[in-house]
Amino acid sequence: MIFGFGKKNRDDDDDDDDELEDEEPQILISFEGPLNKQEIDLETNARLVQAALIPAKEVVSDGVAQRAEFVRIDLKGNAAVVVMSVDGMPVAGEKMAKQKGLAVIQMLKLLGGMDIRERSKPQSGGMLAKYEEIPYEIRLETTPLPDGSERLLIKLRNLKDKLYSPDDLGIPEEIRNKIKEFGASKEGVWLAAGPPRSGTTTTMYAAIRCVDSYLYSFYSIADATGRDLKYLSVYKPNPGDDLPTTLDRVIRMECDDIFVDPLIDAQMAGVVLEKAESVGFMSEMTSKDAAHAIEILATWTNPQLVAERLKGVLSQKLIRKLCDKCREAYKPNAKLLARLGLPETIKKLYRPPTPPDDDDEEEAPPVCSVCHGAAYWGRVAMFEYIDMTPEMQQVISGGGKADDIRAQARKEKMLSLQRDGLRLVVEGKTSLEELQRVFKNG
Ligand SMILES: [Zn+2]
Repeated sequence: MIFGFGKKNRDDDDDDDDELEDEEPQILISFEGPLNKQEIDLETNARLVQAALIPAKEVVSDGVAQRAEFVRIDLKGNAAVVVMSVDGMPVAGEKMAKQKGLAVIQMLKLLGGMDIRERSKPQSGGMLAKYEEIPYEIRLETTPLPDGSERLLIKLRNLKDKLYSPDDLGIPEEIRNKIKEFGASKEGVWLAAGPPRSGTTTTMYAAIRCVDSYLYSFYSIADATGRDLKYLSVYKPNPGDDLPTTLDRVIRMECDDIFVDPLIDAQMAGVVLEKAESVGFMSEMTSKDAAHAIEILATWTNPQLVAERLKGVLSQKLIRKLCDKCREAYKPNAKLLARLGLPETIKKLYRPPTPPDDDDEEEAPPVCSVCHGAAYWGRVAMFEYIDMTPEMQQVISGGGKADDIRAQARKEKMLSLQRDGLRLVVEGKTSLEELQRVFKNG
């Protein structure tokens, strides 16, 4: 029953934590089996389980409790250091003896259906888990280190969060309408693009929901593991059919639009652009931004084809959301508003709470119960959109260079990350400081 083991008071085996006596017992995650469904041999590894199961659960539980996107266990000298990323910001976790860290890594590898004897090659695996009744998917990646040990990356995904609607995600109305129009036109290619781990896939799934799947026959042939696609008809390709054959089969089913896997190479992009004459495609791409995605497509195929078939590219960047509970309103001065190009009628903006004066320490307000003093809680997306106006089509067919596309988008005042970020500032969802930080970090 070791898998179902749920709660435990962490202080029991932590001698140096005496001062934390009053702390609430830590809730521990329960692991629900590896993603690859492999049988786990706990018996042979009984000593490892005894030494490291609880510490391994503690490391992962800490990450989940703090809403981390990922947790990393690094080995440094005689210590193992846990580092998390919360809302894209690094947060220090537990520090433990190297031996304990190594055991935790081995334990998680075992639970994730990975080969614990293998330490010289990178491995990946993972497991399902539950924390306070919320299901999680945990992905593990090991990287061998020169001294024969490993580093472990633990990616956490709350499976309840997967159902983002365009509304939840904050896709602006004007963009939602464009996606709707695209779905109704039944031709061309529509893309969500962005850097890895920037939320592109989540945006993609929200964008799909902008197309009215009751009015149009909308098929998915994409690998949507772990995502809910109930508003689409899912077509399972025949094993052995290549992409053009599969697409021909789906097109013969009188479909209007098709959702396909991310465009990853010239061959795939070529097939999709070619078939887009008679059916609409929605897909995603990895790129720096929307303009860069178009440049890649033009290099893979040819600028004329891209100009003719591409209908729109949405890209996004995540920014931290101000904590609703402790954000502080202030009156922006006219000069600041003018500099930002915002209307002078704006009466208030929001920022993190001002730290208390050092002088009246005794009067220090209690730490915010929602964000625990971080001033931010969760993230929200800023969007940019490149629309295929006749002028933009001309710029693309003339070469399709990202810089030219960006310049044209500015000229036509298309939605940019900067403008959308300012919208979030005006709506009180984020602060000017945070906007500056995000753009400074690229
Ligand atoms: Zn707060």
